[in-house]
Amino acid sequence: MRPEPLNPLFSPITTLKGAGPKIAAAAARLFDRPEKQPARLVDLLLHLPQDVIDRSHMPALSELPRESGQIITIRARVARHHAPPPFSPAPYRVEVCDETGACLTLVYFHARGSWLEKLLPVGEERFISGRLEWYGGRPQIPHPDHVLSKEEFAALPALEPVYPATYGLTSRTLGKLVRQALEKLPELPEWMDPALVRRRGWPSFREALERVHKPQRAQDLAPDSPARQRLAYDELLSSQLALALVRHHVKGRGGRALRGSGKLRRHLLAALPYELTGAQNRAVAEIISDMESDQRMLRLLQGDVGAGKTVVALLAMAHAAEAGTQSALMAPSDLLARQHFATIAPLAERVGLRAVLLTGREKGRKRKELLAQIASGEAHIVIGTHALFQEDVVFDDLGLVVVDEQHRFGVHQRLALQHKAKHAADVLVMSATPIPRTLALALYGDMDISRLDEKPPGRQPIRTATIPLQRVDEVVERLRAAVERGERAYWVCPVVEDSDALPATSAEERFTLLEQVLPGKVGLAHGRMKGEARDAVMERFRRGEIAVLVATTVVEVGVDVPEASIIVIENAERFGLAQLHQLRGRVGRGEKPSSCVLLYREPLTATARERLKVMRETEDGFVIAEADLKLRGAGDLLGAKQSGLPQFRAADLALHDELLAMARDDARLVISQDPHLQGKRGQALRYLLYLHERDAAVPLLSAG
Ligand code: ADP
Ligand code: MG
Repeated sequence: MRPEPLNPLFSPITTLKGAGPKIAAAAARLFDRPEKQPARLVDLLLHLPQDVIDRSHMPALSELPRESGQIITIRARVARHHAPPPFSPAPYRVEVCDETGACLTLVYFHARGSWLEKLLPVGEERFISGRLEWYGGRPQIPHPDHVLSKEEFAALPALEPVYPATYGLTSRTLGKLVRQALEKLPELPEWMDPALVRRRGWPSFREALERVHKPQRAQDLAPDSPARQRLAYDELLSSQLALALVRHHVKGRGGRALRGSGKLRRHLLAALPYELTGAQNRAVAEIISDMESDQRMLRLLQGDVGAGKTVVALLAMAHAAEAGTQSALMAPSDLLARQHFATIAPLAERVGLRAVLLTGREKGRKRKELLAQIASGEAHIVIGTHALFQEDVVFDDLGLVVVDEQHRFGVHQRLALQHKAKHAADVLVMSATPIPRTLALALYGDMDISRLDEKPPGRQPIRTATIPLQRVDEVVERLRAAVERGERAYWVCPVVEDSDALPATSAEERFTLLEQVLPGKVGLAHGRMKGEARDAVMERFRRGEIAVLVATTVVEVGVDVPEASIIVIENAERFGLAQLHQLRGRVGRGEKPSSCVLLYREPLTATARERLKVMRETEDGFVIAEADLKLRGAGDLLGAKQSGLPQFRAADLALHDELLAMARDDARLVISQDPHLQGKRGQALRYLLYLHERDAAVPLLSAG
């Protein structure tokens, strides 16, 4: 149960003045709340300003900072409006100039001209604030945060925090709501080590929040300010503590030594048409040694798509079988479970192991039969989705659980929880996202890690080109020629259907266009289709009945088609580096040389340009991951909020890695001294876990 004093922070923001249903809806979107769950006061309080508007410093347009990305405030006169032609996707532009004679362009996508004419009348002076972008050597502010008259500007505080905002919820409204939420902040116990707080000169939680939400100086928001450090440390500590609890619990439950003769493994290796790579051999050795020890295994197997994780997992499962136990492999989707089954079952069979597939689609009699085989131990290897563990599946003797996380994270935590009572099975987590060490630490605590950093031999490099969208016709023409030569291609779009919100080509639109050029040869797959319909399209692509698969990112964790040798990623500027890398990994799996075309829409921001450059220059997932961390900070690393990546709000892994290591040591010490968090600091730390919603780990405290 959440400590009572925290409850007010978890009430919906509609309890604040000025927050009606529209604002609540925008806030739920901004804070990425699960469906039907309202945004809460705690979301507001932990939503930190990204910058301040400093009225005392307004650069002349002739003296703008040379770098993109900075928030600036300028004073300028509206010179002219450039409305786009009707139905054109081009943005609406407004040119403003100041006394120095220099000008800057305000850029609005999908804006109504009448509204802009009122907001920015020609000849009037306006105070404008927003993010500066240099584009083609000219300064722009896309979608300014503020466009104010002189009077409105005068009413602003000297230093106004700028919050990341969204449609329907401006930075200013957020500021007003945050200030109300601050007033409702209850008195909370100090959960930090007092010696640490003294040594670093950190403020209390309350003071730290006050400092960042009501900054006195721009420095109050700097990542190395005491307030930001305190808040970042809180956040890192809560996640490290949760991870340490899981680890303590899992390891502490005492695994058992699984020993085998090595016979099945030898047979399997002999049945494979290839030799293991050095990295695979190392990983197998590490895993077997964990399984043989009487401590429970908790290991992460990391490697790029195509690095050969499956066979490593299979060898571990063979080892479990030699020891007389069963294995379960949990995949993130039905489709992937099926794919694993298709790879694993025939190999397993050759050495006398029985693999079964159990997903939500196995129903009725069939399901009953499978359950009986699992309960009797007749099934050695059980492959399915996470439903395997939620439902009424009883194993005879489960020795090993393999979790294929692909690109989602955090499953291992839940898994460890679900299994606390029933089994002390060894746990192997497979992740297809190479991540920098810092991030691995943040995500997995000190889980043991095996890395497959060597590709199986004979892989052809992938040629990567970046091409502006204006030249899409050339790309289509080359695609048509390639299809005539018998090649197969993915065409990835960021969105399913057209919307006003995003200037991007939708999968549906692209499908229609390509279908005209290549009639009958194009298929469409996206996340809003029914699972079975989507799988059917992907299956047709796999069999070669269609040559081009237009898709949203469902292909990222989807199909394995070695014959596909081309991938076009449209609006590549909208994807994160890790995601681009994963998508590109869909090709280059067969013997044919492959290519990847990154189609981008101008204008490119400086970071987007850099991302595309990294993609052109390297294929090494670990290098890309490090670049990603540098370019974006960890805030939206891995591109996808839906990845389940713990959302760090105050902490920035690119900047706070020292704090992360400290938090890990701190958490480890706490758990070794007070594993049930019962002491004075332990009790206070429970508040911290709840505050940052790492409380999934709390049941472990009482479970003993
Ligand atoms: P991952 O699960 O890491 O994405 P897979 O296990 O699916 O990768 O392996 C990708 C492909 O590489 C499979 O077709 C597999 O048979 C093949 N493969 C795996 N290990 C080797 C190896 N050592 N040598 C050659 N091919 C390999
Ligand atoms: Mg695989």
